[in-house]
Amino acid sequence: MFGDLFDEDYSSVSNSQYGKGTKLKTKSLEPPAPREFTNLSGIRNQGGTCYLNSLLQTLHFTPEFREALFSLGPEELGSLEDKEKQDAKVRIIPLQLQRLFAQLLLLDQEAASTTDLTDSFGWTCNEEVRQHDVQELTRILFSALETSLVGTSGHDLINRLYHGTIVNQVVCKECGNISENQEDFLDLTVAVKNMSSLEDALWNMYVEEEVFDYDNLYHCRTCDRLVKAVKVKINALPFPRLLT
Ligand SMILES: [Zn+2]
Repeated sequence: MFGDLFDEDYSSVSNSQYGKGTKLKTKSLEPPAPREFTNLSGIRNQGGTCYLNSLLQTLHFTPEFREALFSLGPEELGSLEDKEKQDAKVRIIPLQLQRLFAQLLLLDQEAASTTDLTDSFGWTCNEEVRQHDVQELTRILFSALETSLVGTSGHDLINRLYHGTIVNQVVCKECGNISENQEDFLDLTVAVKNMSSLEDALWNMYVEEEVFDYDNLYHCRTCDRLVKAVKVKINALPFPRLLT
């Protein structure tokens, strides 16, 4: 669905940056409004980018992600000033993300702009007013960051912070045979309705046993018939403290 949304297309980046593309940018001469009493900075909506802003704020308020991103210096990422130079390797997406996070942390303004960041994705005006699915966007942003960080010390940043595994085990109540499969994940879907906390929602979806009996029996290959069984999930979460 997103296709090449996050391609680090150097030519399109420079075109839109300097107004040669279709994007029209008007910069206000008024100074930006300062932060309000919360002392937090928001992110301006470009039209339909609230899903992107939610994702960016979530990443920004994940200290492990933020610190890992900031630990990458210009010797690894290059510099935005050099992006026009022919043979300079400038990793634009992580650099623009660093710049946005720095603004959110340090600039006394009510809301930060994401146009430089979305330009680095190679987005057009249409993309900015189109609503996307945030989970799909997360996967594509993570993938774009991984690609952009190949060959740097941040090459495994996403995997290191977000990779987890779920082992599904079905135990036959008759013969005790265990059938097992493993799934890797970078994000989990949780149902939050009627849940009092994220921990409860995770517990309910990924830890609690599922019982197969009565009209919902399990076919055991060893017994070769429908039997009572129990399904358990064993998780290796990227942030294990969540379930402790
Ligand atoms: Zn069995």
